[in-house]
Amino acid sequence: MNPAARLLPPSIHVFVRDWLSANNILLKSRDGNVLVDSGYARHVPLTLALLGTARGLGGEPLAQLVNTHCHSDHIGGNAAVAAAYDCPIAIPQGEAALVERWDTKALLLDYADQDAPRFTPSSVLTPGSAHVWGDLQWRALAAPGHDMGALVFHNPEHGLLISGDALWHQGFGFVMPPEIDPEALPATRRTLEMLAGLDLRVVIPGHGEPFTDVGPALERALRRVAAFEADPLRLARHALKVILTFALLDRRRLALADLPAYVDRVGIFRDFNALFFGVPAPRLAETLLGELVKAGAVRCDGDWIVPA
Ligand SMILES: [Zn+2]
Repeated sequence: MNPAARLLPPSIHVFVRDWLSANNILLKSRDGNVLVDSGYARHVPLTLALLGTARGLGGEPLAQLVNTHCHSDHIGGNAAVAAAYDCPIAIPQGEAALVERWDTKALLLDYADQDAPRFTPSSVLTPGSAHVWGDLQWRALAAPGHDMGALVFHNPEHGLLISGDALWHQGFGFVMPPEIDPEALPATRRTLEMLAGLDLRVVIPGHGEPFTDVGPALERALRRVAAFEADPLRLARHALKVILTFALLDRRRLALADLPAYVDRVGIFRDFNALFFGVPAPRLAETLLGELVKAGAVRCDGDWIVPA
C-alpha cells in the first residue's frame, strides 16, 4: 500500500485509477456511503466492478455520488453508478447551469472529443458548505482555475484534502489561456495560495496516488503557474497537448494520416489554432505530435499514433 494511503482514516477507500479515469474515493459509513467522482465513460465496467468489491461497497448501498467538478474523466460514470445504486448525484453549484443545459462545449465534451453520458443531478454543493461523509467532517472549498466551478473537500481534523484536478503531486489540470478566460490563471494561483494556507497532511488527488509531501507539490504547482504567467501561449499549447493525449487514451490509437483532419475538425483545436497559432492544420498536427513524442507522452507505431 502507498505510504500516504496508510495514513488515511479507515472509512476512506481510494481507488487509484489512471489518466483517462479520475480516482474514485469511497467514504464509508453506516449512515450512508458516499462516492467522490465516477471515472470516464469507457471505464464504467471497471468502475462498477471496483465498487462491487469487498474494498468497495461489497453489496452495500451507495447513499450519494458527488463530483469535484464536471469534466468527462470525473463524471463519465455518473449515469451508470446512479442507475446501479439508485443514488442521487450532487455537483458543484458552479457547474449546475452547464450540466442542466448539457453544454457540451463548456463541459469540454464533443468540443474536446470527449464523452460522458448525460445525467441528472439531484442537488448542488455550495462553496463553504459542510458535510459528514465517511464519519468525517468535510468542508467544500471553491477551487477555481482548471475548472472555474470546481470544489475541493477539506477535512481539518486529519488534514485531508480531496483535490480533484486543482492540485496533483506534479502540477494540476490544464488551465484555459487568458484569451479564452481571463480569470482562469489568476484563479489557479489564488486557489493554490489558499491551499497553501491549510494545514494539509494527505492530499487525495483526482489522478495519481495520495501524497503527503504537500509543500513541495504546492511549490511545483506555483512554479508552473509562474511559467504560464510569463508565457501565456504555453497554456494554449499545453491544453491542446493534454487534450490530444487524453483523446488517444480514449480512442487507443489514431491514424497518423488522419491527425491534420482531426485537429481541423475537433472544435477546441480548430478554435485555438485560429486564435493563437494561425497555421495550416497539418502544421499544427505536426507541432503537437512532435512535442508529445519528444515528451514521451505518445509514440508512432507504423501508421498509428498511440499513447506511450
Ligand atoms: Zn478536470
